[in-house]
Amino acid sequence: MSSYESMGKQELLQLKKELDAKFEAFKAKGLKLDMSRGKPGADQLDLSMKMMDVLDSTANLKCAEGVDCRNYGILDGISEAKQLLGDMIEVPPENIIIYGNSSLNIMYDTVSRSVTHGVMGSTPWCKLDKVKFLCPVPGYDRHFAITEYFGIEMIPVPMTSVGPDMDMVEQLVTEDDAIKGIWCVPKYSNPQGITYSDDTVRRFARLKPVAKDFRIYWDNAYGVHHLYEDDQDVLIEILAECERAGNPDLVFKFCSTSKISFPGSGVAAIAASAANLEFIKKQMAIQTIGYDKLNQLRHVRYYKNLDGMKAHMKLHADILRPKFEAVLDTLDKELSSCDIGSWIRPKGGYFISFEALEGCAKAIIAKCKEAGVVMTPAGATYPYGNDPYDSNIRIAPSFPTPDELATATELFVLCVKLVSIDKILANK
Ligand code: PMP
Repeated sequence: MSSYESMGKQELLQLKKELDAKFEAFKAKGLKLDMSRGKPGADQLDLSMKMMDVLDSTANLKCAEGVDCRNYGILDGISEAKQLLGDMIEVPPENIIIYGNSSLNIMYDTVSRSVTHGVMGSTPWCKLDKVKFLCPVPGYDRHFAITEYFGIEMIPVPMTSVGPDMDMVEQLVTEDDAIKGIWCVPKYSNPQGITYSDDTVRRFARLKPVAKDFRIYWDNAYGVHHLYEDDQDVLIEILAECERAGNPDLVFKFCSTSKISFPGSGVAAIAASAANLEFIKKQMAIQTIGYDKLNQLRHVRYYKNLDGMKAHMKLHADILRPKFEAVLDTLDKELSSCDIGSWIRPKGGYFISFEALEGCAKAIIAKCKEAGVVMTPAGATYPYGNDPYDSNIRIAPSFPTPDELATATELFVLCVKLVSIDKILANK
């Protein structure tokens, strides 16, 4: 097939007629499929079912410190959970606080605390006229929702193939003290699956923000979520790099086991310098007497150690890999010669990001919906839900079954073709 742009008007009209007929046939199937959110499939959740057996009524529920996990006690997490999650994100256990079931919740708390009480003694953000965050785009909608909720102005920073545009980041943070943070998903980013390069991480660790309360919000949600055993992205560990750069307090690192064990019932943590953690714990002690230690214990007893967790992640990969490949192979086969979009082949994470022709994303998603396939809303990957190019579409291949996914992807490429033809015809 040749590029659509190079085709004549009649040829395109003829193609459109054929594709329209296929689309009507899809509509007649009455599909009800969802590729909108990065939820694991039920078979992935089944992988962790035995975790439900490790704590029963006969179990010894004392943790390593000898504390009875059925009772109050230990504010910042049992030591074996700090060890496991510390190993998972490559930081020493003393640099970790274990929270509850959600890293997003920790991120929200972190921003909320900064708004009401500042960061390590700085002016609370609520007392400032203006507070801004840098938002690499396309990015994670729930990050943007937190900063929008607190009235923080969001400045989009374009992603490159090796991370956010660092020239822009460096320039902005050194000239504007209203900029207090940047949202990052540094490994297998949501939605592009990009891993920040060594140079990008080193430049992050060496930032010289004018705002002393500026922090990098390093959301390491997909740190161990590889698709391939023999071809994995490697990310420099940011806490150690900040320390090396003489900027130990510059970063908050977040993680959870949501997509390792059970989303919504996993264990989440923050890692940061001792000074940051000390400040955080002051608020934490007011907020709670302690989080769910039984769940922490359950996770540690089930995975045992990082090797156990890695072995478990291979089982996830075995389920996810064919799904990613099914989508990507269809995109390659159906669209690569048409010049009506581009995509990246991620080596991990939960998403595939598709760049449609400018001005086409909303129409493609609406067309998919018309035939019963729900995608993430267009614009969701940009602050305020506003993709200025109306181009980015996030595809989440994890939840549908392989058969459903094949059908949904077939419909997706059909919708991409139809909408792109309309756009090209309008300009001919
Ligand atoms: N961060 C990113 C980048 C995510 O994609 C997700 C889940 N979609 C989360 C955080 C949410 O994590 P949690 O369940 O730990 O709140």
